[in-house]
Amino acid sequence: MKKVKTSYKGRKCKFPHCKHILSIYNHEEYCHVHLNLNMLSSNFILAKAK
Ligand SMILES: [Zn+2]
Repeated sequence: MKKVKTSYKGRKCKFPHCKHILSIYNHEEYCHVHLNLNMLSSNFILAKAK
């Protein structure tokens, strides 16, 4: 039997001012939009978020 790992329901993206609710199947801390951005240039994002 295969267990599906899920995360806590109703988590929000950690990106400042982002109101995306993360899927329980998304184990990352960012929504898909910001996860991609974050992987591309995390330093740039952090600088812009201030
Ligand atoms: Zn986001």
